[in-house]
Amino acid sequence: MKKMLFVLLIVSAIKVIPQSIIDKKVNEENLKATLEFLASDALEGRETASNAEKVSALYLATTLKKYGIEPFGDDGTYFQKFDVSVEKFESTSKLMLTDSKGTVIKELFPAEDFGRFSRSYPDPLFSNQSTKLIFAGYGITAPEYNYDDYRDIDVKGKTVVLLMDEPDNKDEAFFEGNKKTKYSESDYKAENAASKGALGVIVISNPEYFAYWNMFKKFTMSESISIYNKEKAHSKTIPIIALSKAVTEILLENEEFTLDQIMEYKKSGKTPAPFELDKKLDYKLDIYSKIKKAENVIGVIKGNDKKLANEFVVLSAHYDHIGTDSEGIVNNGADDDGSGTVSILEAGRVLSLKKDNDRSIVIAFHTGEEKGLLGSGYLTSNAPFVKDIIANINMDMVGREAEDSIHCIGADKLSKKFAQLVEKVNKKTVNMVLDYKYNDPNDPNKFYYRSDHYNYAKKGIPIVFFFDDMKVDYHQPTDDIEKINFKKLGKITTLASELALEAANIEERFPIDVKERGVE
Ligand SMILES: [Zn+2]
Repeated sequence: MKKMLFVLLIVSAIKVIPQSIIDKKVNEENLKATLEFLASDALEGRETASNAEKVSALYLATTLKKYGIEPFGDDGTYFQKFDVSVEKFESTSKLMLTDSKGTVIKELFPAEDFGRFSRSYPDPLFSNQSTKLIFAGYGITAPEYNYDDYRDIDVKGKTVVLLMDEPDNKDEAFFEGNKKTKYSESDYKAENAASKGALGVIVISNPEYFAYWNMFKKFTMSESISIYNKEKAHSKTIPIIALSKAVTEILLENEEFTLDQIMEYKKSGKTPAPFELDKKLDYKLDIYSKIKKAENVIGVIKGNDKKLANEFVVLSAHYDHIGTDSEGIVNNGADDDGSGTVSILEAGRVLSLKKDNDRSIVIAFHTGEEKGLLGSGYLTSNAPFVKDIIANINMDMVGREAEDSIHCIGADKLSKKFAQLVEKVNKKTVNMVLDYKYNDPNDPNKFYYRSDHYNYAKKGIPIVFFFDDMKVDYHQPTDDIEKINFKKLGKITTLASELALEAANIEERFPIDVKERGVE
């Protein structure tokens, strides 16, 4: 009787251990359970440096601990913390367009009349000033094309009025023809203008751009979050703004050219000559600014080989998202990048159970991706193990679109051997269609530069980026868990974990045999 009871107890004990915990294979129920938490409204869209970010980070860290994955952040913890500077326009901010005598023509308010044309806010040094206005073409100085919009003009102490983009031309030898060069970027224009002594930039938008003014309004009033650097507390960034269509027309009224005339010039491939405007611009910008903490979450499955354990394969995803919208509606970020986050967590569980890796495998949850790849930028510049990373596998949006295919980006940019391994492991395991469409360097989307893996690639580390290209609910409150295909997510998780394992057990580090632009 006694014995029988004992046997019964054992049987029932075995029965109550859920398969999801002891499964040495990727378990879809685990993926789902974790995502139900991370993509819930309670987590308020996991905004960088918010309280919800802290709760998410804590959840990820305690789960890593439960899975027997060791801490690999700062001071023996799972967290790698860093300061970010949070900025936004106060509603009291304004610009004043005046005539030459200083009489106000129109007061301009953020979002309504003008927008922020850069990710970063201007340095408060330039928030309270009065300037003359001068039109200076595209605002480009490009000696290699013998082109300089600033050649014969003095812009010191003035606001320069500039065209978007760069001179349009079919000639490949002139600004690379139809391709966009760095000279078309707004940050370049602001820096170049500042180097000539200008105190601000107004960008004259292309007419089709005005159709996006509503999106632009949202962006203008959103917080900017950037890594805070004490030594560089003053960014010296001058204001760079765009005006609404109505205000652009007022600006150019009774000046050398109207908006239409300038656009005619532009279309014909010519740059209108520089001219001084009669009007002036006064700045009264009030910028809210606060320093907050953000944190990456990092764990490690130590390698079995004593020597190779000091080299690392990094599985990464970003756990931050974009928070709530202006009405408080939660952007759940189930696919972006809840999917990648739960995927590497589950991969970590499986790999930790197997413990079959010679090199160490790092599970890295980045924060601040949505604010400009901040967490991965901080990690790759500060973590002590970066020089010993042999590969990075990054997952950002991997749970939607066609079940049997996934976009595969960047694998062949630094090492052919690594690209071959990605192919081989895929064939051997889930055999998904690896779609290389976005791997084309001429693809205008430039996805290779747009998620966390790029910060690893910049350090010369071979990377692969898996991505589903979900478009309809991108950065919308409708990026919800109901739309996630867990079968697909399970497959990609199997692929990522097997790839991490094979890379960790490869005999030699992947040779860097392809030269890619932008490696530091
Ligand atoms: Zn993302």
